[in-house]
Amino acid sequence: MTRTLPVTTGTGGTERRDQGSILDAIGDTPLMLLEGIWVKLEYLNPSGSIKARIAKYMLERAEHEGALHAGDTIVEASSGNTGNAMSMVAAAKGYRMLVVMPANVSTERAAISRAFGAEVLTVGDFHVNEALDKAVELGRRPGFFAPQQFDSDWNVEENRTWLGPEVLNQLPPGVVPDAVVSGVGTGGTIVGVGQAFRQVNPACHIAAMEPDESCTLRCGDIAKHHIEGIADGFVPGVFARHRDIVDELIAVHSADALAEMRRLVTDYGLFVGPSSGAHLLAAKRLRERHPELADVVTFFCDEGEKYLTEHYV
Ligand code: PMP
Repeated sequence: MTRTLPVTTGTGGTERRDQGSILDAIGDTPLMLLEGIWVKLEYLNPSGSIKARIAKYMLERAEHEGALHAGDTIVEASSGNTGNAMSMVAAAKGYRMLVVMPANVSTERAAISRAFGAEVLTVGDFHVNEALDKAVELGRRPGFFAPQQFDSDWNVEENRTWLGPEVLNQLPPGVVPDAVVSGVGTGGTIVGVGQAFRQVNPACHIAAMEPDESCTLRCGDIAKHHIEGIADGFVPGVFARHRDIVDELIAVHSADALAEMRRLVTDYGLFVGPSSGAHLLAAKRLRERHPELADVVTFFCDEGEKYLTEHYV
């Protein structure tokens, strides 16, 4: 039997209009209990990362507030995932997109944004701050809008009102998070989800993770590392404004993160990127340090396909 979709009649009475959008598929990702840690599989979002949420949320907020108009170009600095996610949202909504990326980001990430029709501008070598300055500068021009994920309160707001509550609803009845662990890219996840969890458990322990080799948050030192998407070489405004919320900083070495990432793929079929390995290790270390923290939540933020040439071939 053939199923027919409901027909919306247009001008001629027979026109079939589009229904739904890829943006409807963002969110509602699975939560699994893995090696005793609650893990939210954010890499399953369209465009392959947790950043699909802020891309949709921030751009729709900007439309609503009158900051983003039809015909505008969105310009955002990104070490990859947000650029990819915003390129997807821009394609779905019909905006032009310019992603400003440092040179070190994986070939796949620049290619993915281009595939969505975005233009990619490479500025700076490893860290994202030069790209950030460029995006802010371009964003001031007429016809441009710069969402500025590293500084925007809308980033925190999304995590507090969408991702955080979604996790709370998925935990078994009566279970509240004792702790949340996340690496800091913008800080949006740790701050916003942390705020949401503190609403149901004021004692919820909030732990930020960073690469062992680059102790930006612990000591202000910046160095090269391989956990793409976090520790971009500066303390972002979002994190700086809310850093008091963080109870503990956990360091994970890139080599350990990559080994853990590979184990997740081969042992569980979870094809994830480096920060996911680092997140699980950090969460398990937190449990070792504080055995009283029974329900610890963390995130698998992006998919492994983006790192094929870098780590998997
Ligand atoms: N992991 C990956 C792979 C990321 O791309 C990001 C964000 N850049 C994060 C973790 C951290 O997220 P946030 O920006 O919310 O701190």
